[in-house]
Amino acid sequence: MTIYWEQCSLCGRYHSTRQCTLNPDVMVCVYCCISCPVRNKCPKPVWRFEFEKPVTPKPIPDEKKKLMEELLSKLEKT
Ligand SMILES: [Zn+2]
Repeated sequence: MTIYWEQCSLCGRYHSTRQCTLNPDVMVCVYCCISCPVRNKCPKPVWRFEFEKPVTPKPIPDEKKKLMEELLSKLEKT
């Protein structure tokens, strides 16, 4: 699996990103993947942890969450 080090499509931060399973146009960082609003629907989240240690993502501000949901819903339509 290719790992890119570039700007996350969702949060805009520079992290290592991977191609989102649900939206191949989206490069997603580990943080956004974990806190993805549709992660429970994702057949295979690109960011997973082999040791299933509970991961607690930092709470995302509602504003940012809304933005992510908007972006994802836009992508789903295309
Ligand atoms: Zn991100």
